[in-house]
Order: sequence, then structure tokens, then C-alpha cells
Amino acid sequence: MKAITVEPRKPGTARFEDVPEPDPRNGSVLVEAVAVGVCGTDVEIVEGKYGWAPPGASRLVLGHESLGRVLDPGPTSGLKAGDLVAGIVRRPDPVPCPSCAVGEWDMCRNGRYTERGIKQIDGYMSERWRIEPEYAMKVDPSLGILGVLLEPATVVTKAWEMVLAVGQRSFWEPRNVLVTGAGPIGLLAAGIGVQRGLEVHVLDRVTSGPKVDLVRTIGATYHSTSVKDLDFEPDIIIECTGVGAVIAQSIVKVGSGGTVCLTGVGTGGVAGGAAIADVAAGAVLRNNVIVGSVNANRRHWYKAGQALARANREWLGRLVTRREKPEDFMRALERQPDDIKVVIQFSDL
Ligand SMILES: [Zn+2]
Repeated sequence: MKAITVEPRKPGTARFEDVPEPDPRNGSVLVEAVAVGVCGTDVEIVEGKYGWAPPGASRLVLGHESLGRVLDPGPTSGLKAGDLVAGIVRRPDPVPCPSCAVGEWDMCRNGRYTERGIKQIDGYMSERWRIEPEYAMKVDPSLGILGVLLEPATVVTKAWEMVLAVGQRSFWEPRNVLVTGAGPIGLLAAGIGVQRGLEVHVLDRVTSGPKVDLVRTIGATYHSTSVKDLDFEPDIIIECTGVGAVIAQSIVKVGSGGTVCLTGVGTGGVAGGAAIADVAAGAVLRNNVIVGSVNANRRHWYKAGQALARANREWLGRLVTRREKPEDFMRALERQPDDIKVVIQFSDL
């Protein structure tokens, strides 16, 4: 069969090539790939900046935002042939740490977790893949190819859970949320904010195009100013850019008693404005919480599946702005101006 593979940490090594059929030891459920979403992590791996091949191998099958159709459910999964499934990305570390021991591998403490398509386990960008029944999540069949949005939705679901968990520390009635960044994560976060009945604001750099329209379609307010220039103090900020200046301004801007949830992973940048002790003083005097959130466990996968199933299909469909064939994977990895979520489509539904 064919797969998109890469030699991690070596730029220019990605290719669409023949690989052996998936090893039955990798799981009793055999799945035919339908589509795999592409994200910044895939780009980093292909650029040689990130990623680990499986032990004893030099190449890694790419892809972690999966959607597939069950070919053989195996003896124990409870799935049926033809069911749509998405594969959970992370696996617990082998020790395991206390978090992994209770199934919260998203909170892994020792960093020895593995991840399909990223860290030491082959991913989902192959014509067929196998998965352990307990890591195969059934996707609502009415979602169709939009089930490929489940993985990004799990990341957002966990972020929202973090915000709500922090809120339980005291009496808390949030009215509004600011989402910074109108990429797939930001837009899905905004969508869940609307589902929660909050006044939703989304901030990004563009001034027109599909991102702006998508924000307005769900009744949220779009801003293309900087965070510091907003004329309100958000109760919640979900930060999805990873840009230093946006993060710094968000921490200063969040309202009294408010929470900033960081989901974007950036690097460098100049610390613009306030010195760290001044920022801390503001957080102390206003009871602010800044919480980082990454990955997702099975609970988040389940809840994200429910949130997606409730969402408007037409709106979700507009998040998938481009579909490419597997042999054109390099084109899928190139960022184009109006891209939101690009997917590589392996087979039709
Ligand atoms: Zn762990």
C-alpha cells in the first residue's frame, strides 16, 4: 500500500511511497483511510524540525488528524465494517506516570508518551491503518468527511474543560470569550463558545475572507485590531496563535477573575511591553489564571464528537477549505492565503 512517510529531523525526505500493509500487532481493527487533516505539526515534521520514527525504523508515517472507514472490526471492538472512525493520537507512557495510569495521557508527567504520526508510532497517512479497539473513536456517520475535524475539536474541547475547571474555584458567571486566531482551532473554539451561550469575539489579522465570514455566520464578533485595543475586558481568552505579543496582551487584557487558556505553540518573539513582575502583579490583584492546554484524552474525544455532531454541517464544511490527493501532499502542506483546514483525501465516502 501507499503511505506518506518522512525521515524525522531530515528536511526534504518526505515522500509518497510503497510500504508494507499495517502490522496486525498494531491493533485488531483494520481501517481504510478516508481523509487526514494537515496541521502545523505536520509541516514542522516535514521541514525536519520535529518528530521521531518508531523504534528501530528510520521513517515515520505522517498524519494524526484521521478519518477512516472500518474494513475489519476484529473480534472485540464492537464496531462494524463501514463504521466511520478516528484514531486517538497519544498513547500513555510505559512507566506509566500517575496521569497516564488513570487514562489522562494528555496530562503525561514524564514526557515519555508516544503519538501516532508524530512521536514513535506510525500515523494515519496510509491507505490502510490498524488501531487498538480502545483508541478507535466512532464518528457520527452524518458528519461524513467532516469527521476529519474531530482531532482538532478534541484539542479545543480540552481547552474549554480547563477554562471551566478553573472557573469552579469561585463564583463565576462568564459572559464573554475572546478567541485569538481564526484558524481551525480558534474557529472551533468559537463555535463551542456559541454552543455554550457566551458572547463570542474572535481576533485575527485578516480583514476579509472566509475567516471573517465564518465568525460572523455563527453570530460572533470579528476583530482585526490588536488585543490591547479592544474596548472590553474578556472573561475568558482562548489563545490560539502562539504569537508572543498576542499572548502578552491577552494576559494583561483579561478581565478581573478571568482565565487565559494558552493553546498555541510559538517560539521566540520579543517580550513587548510590561515586565514580568508587573504582569504578575496584575494577575495577583485581579485573580487571573493562565493555563496551558495540550492534546486530549478519551473523555475529550467523546465530548468533541458530541459537539461536532451538534454543529451546523454547512458551517463545519466551510472550515475544510481544500482537499488534495495523497500524491500531492506537498501542495497540501503549503500554506495558501485563504486556507483554514486542508485535508488529504485518500478515498471517497
Ligand atoms: Zn505519562
